[in-house]
Parts: sequence; structure tokens; C-alpha cells
Amino acid sequence: MSLIETVSKKLLRKSAIIYKQQISDSVYHIRLQSKSLKNVSYRPGCVLRVFCGMGADLGKREKARIYSVWNFNRTDQTIDIAVNTHSRGLGSNWAKLCKTGDIVYFTWHKGNFTLDHTGDHYLLIGDLCTLPHFYAINRHLPSGKTVDSLIYFGREGDLFPDIDGQEPFTFHQLPVNPTDAIIEKLSTFLLQATGRRIAYIGGDSRICLSVNRYFRQEIQTSDGQIRLKPFWAPVMRALK
Ligand SMILES: Cc1cc2nc3c(=O)[nH]c(=O)nc-3n(C[C@H](O)[C@H](O)[C@H](O)COP(=O)(O)OP(=O)(O)OC[C@H]3O[C@@H](n4cnc5c(N)ncnc54)[C@H](O)[C@@H]3O)c2cc1C
Repeated sequence: MSLIETVSKKLLRKSAIIYKQQISDSVYHIRLQSKSLKNVSYRPGCVLRVFCGMGADLGKREKARIYSVWNFNRTDQTIDIAVNTHSRGLGSNWAKLCKTGDIVYFTWHKGNFTLDHTGDHYLLIGDLCTLPHFYAINRHLPSGKTVDSLIYFGREGDLFPDIDGQEPFTFHQLPVNPTDAIIEKLSTFLLQATGRRIAYIGGDSRICLSVNRYFRQEIQTSDGQIRLKPFWAPVMRALK
């Protein structure tokens, strides 16, 4: 083990995998337990940088992948994540091969794609890998808020319900990079939405950018009303 890796391990948070289950054709549910979680500041939409490539001959940034906190339990000191394996990269391989008892190093991040309570009407737009993120945000919204969702996916068998078994979202089976179809569906939503609207746009970077442009040019929404976070980009590895 390199000196850098030895030092990194001392600085990172350490956890153990205590549960792993395949929950759809391509997604694994993994539960981590860590004493370091007792005092973290949690907000729905937090993410982990998981060092999936510990031991591999890669740069520090190359070794990590970001996963959304699907569920956080401070009492039990556990975090649930759900990892989609379509990408077939480092993170995907890690999710397939890891097992209960494995030690996992990670860092904890709040970021800016977290829950904003100030809206009246929410719109969540994303793909399969945004599901854990949006399930967490949706579960923590105060009652009385209206939530619309536009979750696009390629294959029926990939989908999975929220951690409590609920299925709160509207799914749309669409071909790869379905920008036009999504924008068409958005116009219906925008006619119905009332009060302060907040849109969260995540997932495929191409869709994120096109939908963001549409909102800004056609609807003239203000900055605070659009939360944008590309989760992955074609050909690129490990977006931050
Ligand atoms: C804020 C944030 C939160 C995230 N949360 C989650 C999460 O909860 N669950 C989750 O599974 N992922 C999540 N991701 C994506 C995750 O960090 C990895 O990028 C993803 O798992 C791919 O990692 P990989 O090592 O398998 O593939 P990489 O080595 O990163 O990429 C290999 C190839 O696969 C392509 N690719 C990457 N992702 C996909 C995809 N979804 N579908 C098709 N092709 C793809 C890439 O363009 C590249 O060509 C999140 C990303 C961000 C930025």
C-alpha cells in the first residue's frame, strides 16, 4: 500500500458494509455503518464520495465515485445508498463485487443539490441514478407541498421503489438522451404549477443542460428556482 493511501485512510471516514441486496436488474442497495456519523450535519440531498478504488493504482480523485444518501439513520449510524451498474466503470464494479463486512472509506458532502423547503410546487427531473437522491428529498418535504416528477428510464426491470416501499414518482420509458420528449412533457407541468416553483434537474448531463436552457429561455425562471446537478456525462468518468 502506498504512503499516500495509508495517510488518506487516516483522514477519511471509515465504515463497514452491513447489508447488500440487488434491488433491480441493475441496481444494488448497500448499507454502510460508521461511528463517524454521529455528529454529521444531515440535509436531504447529501452525498458521499466513496473511495471504490482503494488499492488500485489510480490518482486520489480517480478512486472515488459520488453516491447520494438514500437514507440516513443517526441512531443506528447507517447510510443507505443505491448504485446503478449501467456505467460498467469502477463504481459499478465495486457495487457488484463488494460484500457485507467490507470496509469502505468515504467523505461526507452537503453540496448544493439539497432540499430547499421554500417552494410550493416541486418538479424532480432525472434518470435511474438520481432516484435515491430524489426519493430522499421527496420523503423529507413538509406535507402540503405539491411534487411532480419526470423520471426517465430505459428498461422496465431497472426501476426500484423508495426504501419504505412507496412509489411516489412518475416514470417515463424513453430512448437514450430524450431531450425533446422531456421538454414536451414539461410544458404540461408548467401550465399546472402554482406558487413558488422549484425544479431539481439531475442525471444525464445532456438532458440537464437542455432542460436548464429551456427553463431559462422559455419560462424565464430565476436562479433560485432551478437546481441543476449533472450526475454523469457521456464518455467522461466520475463527475464531481
Ligand atoms: C451528486 C451526484 C450524486 C450521485 N448519486 C448517485 C447514486 O445515488 N447512485 C448512482 O448509481 N450513481 C450516482 N451518481 C453517479 C456516480 O457518481 C458515478 O458517476 C456512476 O456510478 C458511474 O461510475 P462508474 O465508475 O461505474 O463509471 P465511470 O468510470 O465514471 O464511467 C464509465 C462510463 O459510463 C458512463 N456512465 C456513467 N454513468 C452512467 C449512467 N448512469 N448510465 C449510463 N452510462 C453512464 C460514463 O459516461 C463513462 O463513459 C452520482 C453522481 C453525482 C455527481
